[in-house]
This record gives sequence, structure tokens and C-alpha cells, in this order.
Amino acid sequence: MRLLLIGAPGSGKGTQAERLADHFGLTHISSGDLLRRHVEEGSKLGQAVQRYVSRGDLVPDTLVMDALRKPVVAASESGGYILDGFPRTVEQAELARATAKELGVDAQVAVHLDVPREELIRRLLARGRGSDDTEDVINHRLEVYDQHTVPMLDYYAQRAELVRVDGSRSPDEVTKELITELEKVQRSLTL
Ligand code: AMP
Repeated sequence: MRLLLIGAPGSGKGTQAERLADHFGLTHISSGDLLRRHVEEGSKLGQAVQRYVSRGDLVPDTLVMDALRKPVVAASESGGYILDGFPRTVEQAELARATAKELGVDAQVAVHLDVPREELIRRLLARGRGSDDTEDVINHRLEVYDQHTVPMLDYYAQRAELVRVDGSRSPDEVTKELITELEKVQRSLTL
């Protein structure tokens, strides 16, 4: 199965993606983790993306695609992927679809992990991961999400590829519902 997990910063998508990857035998690919790793390693790509990541701005599409191409193709060849954090804009969704179709690795379903704003802020401030988790950067990342990612939900909804799950409950409850919903999707894909 090849799936996209869409959620605001603080929605718990990283945790849920790991659990789903385990359950369904998928590779978890987090665009944020991949980019942060490049920054830490000081790779050429890392140097190019550093200033965007530290401000909470979106990294230009070509750079994100460069980071993702290989891992996505490799995962598709070994059981499928769960992509967490990509795509994040309508443009990326279109670009991803065109590129992935060509390679035969396009996503089959998009899951929206929906969490109310107050709960997101509470969780993000509690997390305090580092330079991209200060209050100003958190607010900015949430604005970026509203402006760029929320319109992308429509892109998938219009194609009837969107599953919405309430992400405000406990992590275990959310995992349980995600698994139920995705098992339905899996059955429909194998029909
Ligand atoms: P995340 O851990 O998914 O919240 O991502 C952390 C940061 O990495 C974001 O604030 C962006 O700077 C960058 N990033 C991650 N995924 C993308 C993407 N799909 N497009 C552009 N920038 C991204």
C-alpha cells in the first residue's frame, strides 16, 4: 500500500506513521526528518534547505523532491510507503502525482489526521524539539499549514482519495481508527 498522511505540525502524524508502517509492513518516510538529517550531516542539500527549515518555511519543491525520490522508489519496491509531511501544497501534490505516476509509485490514499488548533499548540509547546519549535516558529508553521496545506485537502477530497480521522483523541484510539479505515482501503484495492 502507498499512502500519504496529512496533518498539521503537532497532529501526531509522525507517531501514527511509525505505528502504521509497523502494522502494514510499510516504510515510513518523513520529509521533515529527511530534511533535518541532511541539515545535520551538512550535505549539499542540507546546506541549501537549512534556512527554510529553521524558520519553518516551506523548502522549495525541487529540493524536497530531490530528497524524496530515491527513498520513495525504494519503499515502493518493498511493500509500500507511508509518506508523512509530503506533499504539503497543491503544487507539490500535482508534481508528486505526475512524477510518481511515471515511476509507477503514486499514492493510493491520503489520510487527514484532523486536530483542533488549541490542541496543536498545546502539544507543540510541550514537545520543544529545538530551533523549529519556539512559539514564533510554531505559529508560523501553523499559518503555513493553513495557507498551503489546507487547500491541498480539497485536491484529494475531490478525487475521492481522502480519509479523515479525528486525531484529537488518545494516540492508541487514533491508531485503532486509522488501522480500521486503512484495512477497508486495503480491501478495496485488492478487489
Ligand atoms: P515537519 O517535521 O514535517 O513538520 O517538517 C519540518 C520542516 O521541514 C518544515 O517546517 C519545512 O521547513 C520542511 N519541510 C518538510 N516537508 C516539506 C515539504 N513537503 N515541502 C516543503 N518543506 C517541507
